[in-house]
Amino acid sequence: MTNSKPNKILIVGGGTAGWMAANLLVSKWQDVEITLVESEDIGIIGVGEGSTPHLKLFFDTIGVSDEQWMPRCNATYKNGISFDNWSSLAGFESYFHPFAAQTDDVFTLPLFFKHIRARMQGLNVDAHPDRYFLETYLTRQHLGPLPAESFPFGMAYGYHFDSARLGQFLAEQAQAKGVTRLIGHVAEATLDQVGNLSYVQLNDGRQLAADFFIDCSGFQALLLQKSLNVGFRSYKDSLFNDAAVVMPSAAPQVLPVETRSIALSNGWAWKIPLTNRFGNGYVYSTGYINADQAETELRQHLGLLDADVEARHLAMRVGRVDKHWHKNCLAVGLSQGFIEPLEATAIALSFNTIAQFIQCFEQSQFSHQYQQAFNQNINGRFDGIRDYIVCHYKMNRRADTDYWRDNAANQQISDNLKQILTLWHHSPDFAGDMLKHNLIGSYQPKSWACMLAGYGIFPNRPLQQPADLRAYQQEMATLGDFIRRCGLNFKPHAELL
Ligand SMILES: Cc1cc2nc3c(=O)[nH]c(=O)nc-3n(C[C@H](O)[C@H](O)[C@H](O)COP(=O)(O)OP(=O)(O)OC[C@H]3O[C@@H](n4cnc5c(N)ncnc54)[C@H](O)[C@@H]3O)c2cc1C
Repeated sequence: MTNSKPNKILIVGGGTAGWMAANLLVSKWQDVEITLVESEDIGIIGVGEGSTPHLKLFFDTIGVSDEQWMPRCNATYKNGISFDNWSSLAGFESYFHPFAAQTDDVFTLPLFFKHIRARMQGLNVDAHPDRYFLETYLTRQHLGPLPAESFPFGMAYGYHFDSARLGQFLAEQAQAKGVTRLIGHVAEATLDQVGNLSYVQLNDGRQLAADFFIDCSGFQALLLQKSLNVGFRSYKDSLFNDAAVVMPSAAPQVLPVETRSIALSNGWAWKIPLTNRFGNGYVYSTGYINADQAETELRQHLGLLDADVEARHLAMRVGRVDKHWHKNCLAVGLSQGFIEPLEATAIALSFNTIAQFIQCFEQSQFSHQYQQAFNQNINGRFDGIRDYIVCHYKMNRRADTDYWRDNAANQQISDNLKQILTLWHHSPDFAGDMLKHNLIGSYQPKSWACMLAGYGIFPNRPLQQPADLRAYQQEMATLGDFIRRCGLNFKPHAELL
């Protein structure tokens, strides 16, 4: 590559990742010729219906409002995720994980940490996360995340959406801004003398050349892994799930503002509310249960045992590539890696990958100067999310099947995760020490604390009343009142849609 802006970019793949890349690139580099080629024979994966606040950031970046895209994609708002039945400890059977970065946390988070510390010291105080966050209250009251204008705190929220419709919407947006869409099946890619991608050859004989290639070919990983031979690092020693079965169920009467993640015998099931249906799926490990058993269990769980509803079965390859940007190719989406969908992080990773690539490439005058730093950064994001998800399994409090027992006993966890767990058990200042030891990556201390306190990871010993019981009760009453009064600024979810 020379130090000049590419004239032609070819994106291979028209799933969510491909069209997100097309939109971001065309918004940023209007003078570059951008073409996207997708295969009709392969199609898109067609799952992935939950997001983090990064999807809002993406739409803000390309200048699309909620009103423009949400109705087209049967989308609903999301305040966070409920984790149900991951722990069988009395009082900790369920907890809610709100999104990070809300400024009202300034008032509520310190009290949460204070009571976690007190609980660690054996005091009988409420350290369950569900009492401490506005989003949890909003979710229980079916209130959406958009506050009245006068509300002084910022809110972060995600969405639920129909992924096929989102793809179509994004394709229209990108084409309206000048991206060319081609239908064609890439048979192979050809490299030049220095090992850069030169052109791809389609089955019908067409050759598509470009200066830069974006590999969004999904689990096929055509360019980066197959043509450029970039290595893949599997996460399967710490994340056992490798398959999913998916089926819809009837639209809810009242639209929830949360994804539910419900632990089943050998994995977990998602329940995602769209305006016209629920999306459901069971993510499981084929080492413990086969596809038929998983489908039957999901049908039982949904009350659809005898219903005429089609199920889709999917295989998942969990892990990441060693380098996301190599030579003149960037991989985005499933082609760069996949962490199972427990925290719905795939779109966030795609967005971060493209946005950071654009920034690094521009900053280095379109050279490869920052390629290594970029790859390290994206690897860190993947590994950080993996650690957080592994922690759900490692710290589960169920003992009903080998699957849950093996997950709890698994020693294949990263040094970072070991350190975080040590801090949880022993540090008098969990959040401060995470910062001090450089352990804050993809998830803030708030998220870690919600998970660990939500599962009831506290010393198992008799609890004592706090010395100043009245002061404690007063604090909790003030907290509850603060959250309830904040809640007055929010409308019912249904009114926002
Ligand atoms: C069970 C499951 C649940 C998920 N849940 C979530 C979630 O809740 N939230 C979230 O953010 N993500 C989720 N994901 C991930 C999400 O689905 C993907 O990250 C997202 O859809 C992007 O996929 P993609 O565009 O990389 O690949 P795909 O959608 O698979 O698209 C691949 C594209 O490449 C094209 N292609 C492939 N081979 C060729 C070829 N030879 N020639 C030309 N074109 C080709 C195909 O035609 C297609 O257009 C989930 C994934 C799974 C498996």
